[in-house]
Amino acid sequence: RKLGYAIVGLGSYGLDVIIPQFANCTHSRLAAVVSGDPVKARRVAAAHGLPASGIYSYETFDSIRDNPDVDIVYVCLPNALHAAYTIRAAKAGKHVLCEKPMAVSVAECEAMIAACKAANRKLMIGYRCHFEAYNLEAMRLARTGAAGKIRYVRSEHGFVQRDPAKWRLKRALSGGGSLMDMGIYSLQAARYMIGEEPIAVTARESTDRRDPRFTEVEDMLDWTLEFPSGAMAGCQSMYSANQNRILLMGDAGRIELEPATRYDGNQMWVGKDGRERAVLPPGGPGKTQFAGQLDHLATCVSSGREPIVSGEEGLRDMRIVEAIYRSAREGRTIRLDGRA
Ligand code: NAD
Repeated sequence: RKLGYAIVGLGSYGLDVIIPQFANCTHSRLAAVVSGDPVKARRVAAAHGLPASGIYSYETFDSIRDNPDVDIVYVCLPNALHAAYTIRAAKAGKHVLCEKPMAVSVAECEAMIAACKAANRKLMIGYRCHFEAYNLEAMRLARTGAAGKIRYVRSEHGFVQRDPAKWRLKRALSGGGSLMDMGIYSLQAARYMIGEEPIAVTARESTDRRDPRFTEVEDMLDWTLEFPSGAMAGCQSMYSANQNRILLMGDAGRIELEPATRYDGNQMWVGKDGRERAVLPPGGPGKTQFAGQLDHLATCVSSGREPIVSGEEGLRDMRIVEAIYRSAREGRTIRLDGRA
């Protein structure tokens, strides 16, 4: 049978991006919605043929434990609410897919992993690029030496934040600025393209604190990661320009993606020193990256396997995120390998 998902948070990602994707899934279906807006919840439930028993508020959420129709809870809330809802879902006996960033601190990530472990439930992070055809093909090309030995990865992600009232610009809900949003793509790409864990990070921040959008969180961060093989990654995130690009430079050529991590329309080239050849990837595991992601957790739950992007993977990123902020704040390189 298809496993049932409850979507928590009917905002732009949960409602407009994820819910329509169940139509592309083989192993997953929409089983419930959790929203603070009862009118919206009823409208969405009716549009997708859900019974009244599949509608929850944030207050009634814990009673989802009594709903056998729901196997997996997908947390699509502002970042600072990820930990609380993941832990409540695990305590209700449900598996969890949690959006990125996993949470707003290492301590929260550890508590989420512990809660899912104690409840013997799976925990996966919404790192959709691991199911996206271009990113998968770039990883394969990098690993098989299409550009030679990878020496440097450049990864830049940003978009223009316009409205100072948005939760993304409020520290209590976002946990931080562009790094906690598009910066996660830059960091993830550096790690999955190089295929190693960074040993040190050096970061710098540039934020105009007089700008009403940036009184609480950062605009631009630029950071360099050093890897054990000697490869380096130059990463960037910003809230004041649109950018979406990953560039891999090897000793025999380069692999370039632009746009690199969008919902669709990504493009890729392989070349000796430019964009000589456009690459069309063979396709990802699902009809779309979103369907691939939803079905991956469903099949992991059915088969008992661990998701390829588990809570531990989210925790690894959060440790680096904390080091990036610390490096920018203290103006020095932070070691990630425990060495002084
Ligand atoms: P959004 O603002 O569009 O939606 C957030 C939802 O949370 C809204 O329905 C809002 O009503 C609800 N909510 C509940 N409690 C709230 C509170 N106390 N304050 C504010 N809102 C509250 O945001 P979004 O773009 O849907 O982002 C939600 C999550 O999804 C974020 O963690 C974000 O990083 C992630 N996201 C991931 C991707 C991706 O491609 N993987 C894309 C967009 C967003």
